[in-house]
Amino acid sequence: MNIILLGPPGAGKGTQAQRLVERFGMKQLSTGDMLRAAVKAGTPVGLKAKAVMDAGELVSDEIVSALIGDELDAMPEGQGAIFDGYPRTAAQAASLDEILASRGKALDHVIELDVDEDALVERITGRFTCASCGKGYHDKFERPSVEGTCDKCGGHEFKRRPDDNEETVRTRMAEYRAKTAPILPIYEARGIVARVDGMADMDAVTASIEKVLQG
Ligand code: ADP
Ligand code: ADP
Ligand code: ZN
Repeated sequence: MNIILLGPPGAGKGTQAQRLVERFGMKQLSTGDMLRAAVKAGTPVGLKAKAVMDAGELVSDEIVSALIGDELDAMPEGQGAIFDGYPRTAAQAASLDEILASRGKALDHVIELDVDEDALVERITGRFTCASCGKGYHDKFERPSVEGTCDKCGGHEFKRRPDDNEETVRTRMAEYRAKTAPILPIYEARGIVARVDGMADMDAVTASIEKVLQG
């Protein structure tokens, strides 16, 4: 099964993707994570993407679609993909169709995380992740059960994203509204969109998504 998690920054895409990976053995394909890895490694893609990401704008369609194609090719036969943060433009949606079709794959569901924009700034400015395993946390909504220790891997180091500040978040939300939200009708026309209440607590959101996947 291949699904897209669609929603503005802070909607809970990464959080829910990590849970689906654990429960169903699917693979999370986050273009944001791929780009941050490229920035950290100082690759040509990373060098190009850094300033764009720091500004909260969108990296070029060609770059992100190439990253997705490469990751799909590295996956074992039969493993399901969770597209997290991709596609974000109509051009990327068209590329994804081609990328999947040329590999004999198809999209099963587009899960739209429906959230109240006013809550997103608080979600994003309180977000942090484990530096060793990447598990996501929040200052208020999901603290490690033992202070300073990662629940998943026992790590003690955590990090915050440089673009998770209020000003950049506003730009990222505007980008979402202008370029990403308009791709929903493409998938609605195919009858594969399921709208999930992203304002519910994390477990309830997970339960709603599992219901969609189990059809
Ligand atoms: P996205 O990947 O869509 O940008 P994340 O999954 O990283 O969003 O979530 C943003 C922040 O909000 C994280 O710190 C996460 O712990 C928190 N969060 C995610 N889902 C919920 C929820 N349903 N209720 C409260 N906080 C949440
Ligand atoms: P969030 O889910 O919190 O919005 P991401 O980690 O998905 O953040 O993305 C962080 C940044 O990486 C974006 O603001 C953008 O600059 C870049 N990016 C990630 N995915 C894409 C994409 N599919 N197309 C263009 N830019 C992207
Ligand atoms: Zn960890």
